[in-house]
Amino acid sequence: MAGPTGYKKGLQGGAWHLSPFAKKLTRRHRDAARADTVFEQALRAQTHYPQRIDALIAGGTYFIGKPCERCSSVKRRVFDCGCWSCKQAMRPIVLDYRNRLAKGWLSVRSRDGHAAILDAKRRETAGESYCIDAGDWSAQVYPTGRLAVHCPRLHIETPDLRTVPKARLFELGMANPELVEIMRRAGWSVD
Ligand SMILES: [Zn+2]
Repeated sequence: MAGPTGYKKGLQGGAWHLSPFAKKLTRRHRDAARADTVFEQALRAQTHYPQRIDALIAGGTYFIGKPCERCSSVKRRVFDCGCWSCKQAMRPIVLDYRNRLAKGWLSVRSRDGHAAILDAKRRETAGESYCIDAGDWSAQVYPTGRLAVHCPRLHIETPDLRTVPKARLFELGMANPELVEIMRRAGWSVD
């Protein structure tokens, strides 16, 4: 097969061996892409979905892609391009130490999901975030999904776009394509 055989680059003095030609994109790919535009471009070249890489870099877990053949949802996982809804439905049942269904397991959240949420909260508290600029708009994406948006021209400064009512958000989005671009790059779905 033609093409690069692997990606090798020293990162912060350490050895960094990570192929951008991977079916599954993990946090390591995200960190490498954030640190290195060459790696980011290589990632973009190996996927049909530029929005998948946008979401990866922004710390998002899903993007809008091709409709699923089973359920026609367009929400796809950044990790492996799988259908978000189908993968949620197929999540394995978890048993407790006595081989019975774990109590309280009717929650939508998986244990992994819960651990991931705690991890996201911890990272947010530690000050981790990522900046997106679009025109005179700028936004800060936090690990928990909080999206702080700032536009001095319109005197908009909201610490969490998720708290803005949908109708108002729609109105803002119609008038400001930059905001829609920010939402898209932060991994928001538009529905
Ligand atoms: Zn599906």
